This record gives sequence, C-alpha cells and structure tokens, in this order.
Amino acid sequence: MSGIFLSLGSNLGDRRNNLYFAINEIGKYRLITIEKISSFYQTSPLGQKNQPDFINAVIRIKTGLSPDKLLFYIKSLESKMGRIKYLKWGPRKIDIDIIFYNDLFVKKHELTVPHPEAGKRLFVLEPLMEIAQDLTYPGTDLRITEMVNDLRKTIPFEDYNE
Ligand code: AMP
Repeated sequence: MSGIFLSLGSNLGDRRNNLYFAINEIGKYRLITIEKISSFYQTSPLGQKNQPDFINAVIRIKTGLSPDKLLFYIKSLESKMGRIKYLKWGPRKIDIDIIFYNDLFVKKHELTVPHPEAGKRLFVLEPLMEIAQDLTYPGTDLRITEMVNDLRKTIPFEDYNE
C-alpha cells in the first residue's frame, strides 16, 4: 500500500482553524482529491520551546500533479495564508510538507521526498499511522506502526487526539 501524504502544522493564531482552512482549500482545488484526513494532534514544538504547541494533522490525497508542481501548490497556499516565517523551528501559521509521494524518491535542492525528517517525527508518524495502518516506509518493508512504537520508547510523547 502506498499513497501521497501531506502533513500540516500550525502554532500561531487560531491553530485548528488554520488547519481546517488549509484542508478546505486543498479540497477545493480541482487537481487534488482528499482521500483521508487524520485527527488533529497537539504536540510540543521542536527547537524553540517558548512558543505555543502545534496542532498537526496528515492527509492522504490523490493528484496528477508532479511532486514539483505539488510543492509549488502547497507553498503558494502557505503564502496565501500569510505565513510569516520568523525563525527556523519558530512559530508558524501554517506549514505543509510532502511526506510521501507513493514510492517515489526525489532528491533536489528544493525538494526531498520522502521528507527527510518524517521518519523521526512522531507528530508526522502518529497521524499517518491513524489513516494508513498498513503503510510501509517507501523502499522498505518497515511498517509505520513499528516506527511509531520504536520512537515512543525513546521520546516522551504528550499529545492528544481531539
Ligand atoms: P519549511 O521549513 O517546511 O517551510 O520548508 C522549507 C523548504 O523546504 C521549502 O521551501 C521546500 O523547498 C523545502 N522542502 C524540501 N523537501 C520538502 C518536502 N518534502 N515538503 C515540503 N518542503 C520541502
């Protein structure tokens, strides 16, 4: 089983509403169909600790857009939503990343798929596991559920499902 997965996160303003807005925009775009939406997860920020918690979610989409065009679309949506990026790891109104694009591997200056941090981040893997229980990490037979179990042993995870 494979698929195209995007992760979304927000920790500025009305965080849940920012996620709803972004998901709604993606759903309205005629070249993308949303197949699944995870619950929203509240997670502690990485890096800069003195900032609000994030609300994170993952969606599975269907699209004929190439990875490059998909990246262009999601980055334009972030701009449209007025994301202000103050600092790396800092607060953000909306952040959208391409996690997996089926079993495709991309390594370019502006785009790496699978997302290089995805395998280390519970705030990506937890919602991913929720909507894609049988999914394996592209190019391996490692199940996402196993990755989550392994990571949970090493990282304290304070999140909740809404
Ligand atoms: P971010 O900090 O998430 O806004 O990402 C900054 C840059 O990462 C973007 O402008 C993209 O060019 C680049 N990038 C590389 N790989 C990815 C990916 N898989 N999904 C989203 N952005 C990516």
